Amino acid sequence: MNATAHQTAPQPVAPAAFDVARVRADFPILATQIHGKPLVYLDNAATTQKPQRVIDAVSHYYEATNANVHRGVHTLSQRATDEFEGAREAVRQFLNAADAREIVFTRGTTESINLVAQSYAREFLSPGDEILIGAAEHHANIVPWQMLAKSRGTVLKVAPINDAGELDMAAFERLLTPRTKLVAIGHVSNALGTINPVARITALAHAAGAKVLIDGAQSVAHANIDVRALDCDFFAFSGHKLFAPTGIGVLYAKADLLEMMPPWQGGGDMIKTVSFEHTEYNDIPYKFEAGTPHIAGAVGLKAAIDYLQTLDFAGAVAHEHRLLEAATRAAGTFPGLRPIGTAREKAGVLSFVIEGLHPQDLGVLLDSQGVAIRTGHHCAMPVMQYYGLAGTARASFAFYNTQDDLDRFFKALEKARDILS
Ligand code: PMP
Repeated sequence: MNATAHQTAPQPVAPAAFDVARVRADFPILATQIHGKPLVYLDNAATTQKPQRVIDAVSHYYEATNANVHRGVHTLSQRATDEFEGAREAVRQFLNAADAREIVFTRGTTESINLVAQSYAREFLSPGDEILIGAAEHHANIVPWQMLAKSRGTVLKVAPINDAGELDMAAFERLLTPRTKLVAIGHVSNALGTINPVARITALAHAAGAKVLIDGAQSVAHANIDVRALDCDFFAFSGHKLFAPTGIGVLYAKADLLEMMPPWQGGGDMIKTVSFEHTEYNDIPYKFEAGTPHIAGAVGLKAAIDYLQTLDFAGAVAHEHRLLEAATRAAGTFPGLRPIGTAREKAGVLSFVIEGLHPQDLGVLLDSQGVAIRTGHHCAMPVMQYYGLAGTARASFAFYNTQDDLDRFFKALEKARDILS
């Protein structure tokens, strides 16, 4: 008998090829009208929209499951705990972390970075020890290190960028010394779109004896993240930039580091036993999750991750990249437009100024035509200072954007320019 003819194993169902029209239908808000015009949503770096599946998961949680986690013996509490811990496992798989204990739920990237600053760095760094960041960081990856410098006497060093908005790797390597104890680097710049070579940065930092924190706020929705392949020590991201609710985020950290680190907030859930004389802390990751967590947010985050797994993600990333290339080409022929951030490796962001026009005026006029972009300093004031600007206008893309969105954006830009000049 020909075995192969009759006994082929069932093939796994491949996700459907990327179909932007079908994907858009999953996001109800994209059908909204703004000022009587169909919404063109190009503010995805600030926050992404939510698919119906996430909205349903959050409401279903409140309709059918709501209870507090970990402490209850009753059925709903056990269900809520299962869903919350199920979300942790989904994040583990999503990041390819080795162990669900390495996934700490936080409010978002900002809180994750502050956790590392106030627990790991406060405990293990000494006065004079250096923390090295890049010059294009978001304030969330600057201010916590300045706060630490004030209280602990650590030193903040900044690796410069070039005019394209790329990290100057030669300068980075020069600044990486035996005094460097932590490198904290954005994976993708929210202000410029630059993709930093985080794998190389991590290898260099480790060779110099430093730990590495990657701010993944802007990369999680645009690339497959594999924390084990990257070998980073910490990876922070926010659910709301990954099609999930606001108020939930993640700090991935290697288990041995989490074990060593002291808790940074005290309260319920982070303890095993408490007396007035002594408190025994809980195991990781609970040691870092004081108080009632954002359970519905975690449920929504799992739904977002599940949703992404139904997509052809590589196709989605390729589609988004084509949009960025088309936008960059169109921007290149727009009179008076100066792109800010022209790195060779970019994701999802077109930042620009137009000669003689204030970005905020542009933003308001675009909004009147249904086009949502962001204007201002994008929580990256040092980047603006580098370019000598108060702010830029920024269109940022997600896989549900289309060529039609781009056409409407550039038409609206022309109209705004005609009104303003
Ligand atoms: N880092 C980067 C690169 C970001 O883009 C953002 C959000 N704009 C943050 C950190 C902070 O994220 P959150 O406000 O969700 O904590």
